[in-house]
Amino acid sequence: MSEHFSVERGLFDDVMVPNYAPSAVIPVRGQGSRVWDQQDKEYIDFAGGIAVSALGHCHPALVGALKEQGEKIWHLSNVQTNEPALRLAKKLVDSTFAEKVYFCNSGAESNEAALKLARRWALDVHGADKSQIIAFKQGFHGRTFFTVTVGGQAAYSDGFGPKPGDIDHAEYNNLDSLKALISDRTCAVMIEPLQGEGGIVSPTDEFIKGVRALCDQHNALLIFDEVQTGVGRLGELYAYMDLGVTPDILTSAKGLGGGFPIGAMLTTTEIAKHLKIGTHGSTYGGNPLACAVSEAVLDTVNTTEVLAGIKAKAKIYVAGLNAINAKYNIFSEIRGKGLLIGAVLNENYQGKAKAFLNAAMDEGVMVLVAGASIIRFAPSLVIPDEDITLGLARFEKAIASLV
Ligand SMILES: *Cc1c(COP(=O)(O)O)cnc(C)c1O
Repeated sequence: MSEHFSVERGLFDDVMVPNYAPSAVIPVRGQGSRVWDQQDKEYIDFAGGIAVSALGHCHPALVGALKEQGEKIWHLSNVQTNEPALRLAKKLVDSTFAEKVYFCNSGAESNEAALKLARRWALDVHGADKSQIIAFKQGFHGRTFFTVTVGGQAAYSDGFGPKPGDIDHAEYNNLDSLKALISDRTCAVMIEPLQGEGGIVSPTDEFIKGVRALCDQHNALLIFDEVQTGVGRLGELYAYMDLGVTPDILTSAKGLGGGFPIGAMLTTTEIAKHLKIGTHGSTYGGNPLACAVSEAVLDTVNTTEVLAGIKAKAKIYVAGLNAINAKYNIFSEIRGKGLLIGAVLNENYQGKAKAFLNAAMDEGVMVLVAGASIIRFAPSLVIPDEDITLGLARFEKAIASLV
């Protein structure tokens, strides 16, 4: 029997490691794009658990998949394979450039696998000298020591002792800065096809195609980190599909599980073969529960209706945010793509994004920030239009309370 005591926000400070600063309320249940806290106050969810809850909360297809698999088998490890993992891998292969899939449990792990695979590929095919990894300033790739060092904010990787080596950073949307670093020693270039955490920054057409061309010229692998942009977020199943550029390795997580932890690394047979038996692994990777839920996510998102719906809903957001801006003049730009939208605070409100997030919570709408001066929206890909309208009305009230 579990002991009962009151579970309140204050308990966090007593018993949790202090690496997060969660908001004052504790949500306890959700349905679609609405969430309720311990006091039964309702929130419209424009945050989506940071672009994770791709189909909102408790979507019936996902609940059904979880319950069905939950009564069959939960876990096997990789000593055996399992049906949900094989089904999911087949569907990912059939719907992307990839021919092979590796499963893990998070975005960082999928990037860790991609980087280790790239290093193995380079060692096997070209020799030990080809080990340089280039990524981009303001980029984000996760919090393992390798991925956080590849990420473009030294502040996140400083203070943990000697870092993994031979990692350099170019400037996003600046092809010359990549040209200055890349050479035949470059093993891989890792890039987000739209920088998420770094401020909702889209690549220019010239830049992203130029990155591919430079990788080809120097026999370097191009790794797309689609942890945030993948699984419909930008309006295509994966962002690369709309860019005219195909990566050699693609990583996926966040929305892929719709709230159940899963990560995947996708690549070609030719590259995958360098991750030989025993070179890499994960106890939980390809877990049947995660893969069963993820298959339901993929089946639901990868349809013409849902993908077209994302683009239509994005227009409602942009129009709504522009209308708010016309009244209050607080944004310098509304940017992003699909349902990953950034509202950039203008010079009068620099550094205030967190204050707007808190005011929005008070009014009953959950939003995100991306840095100190950008308010980020990453809602369910199937959020009802009326929830967008209601949530934006609440967001407007929050703004009115601050300006
Ligand atoms: C969130 C994120 C990650 C890290 O994912 P985790 O599941 O937190 O490890 C990596 N890359 C990008 C682009 C992300 O947005």
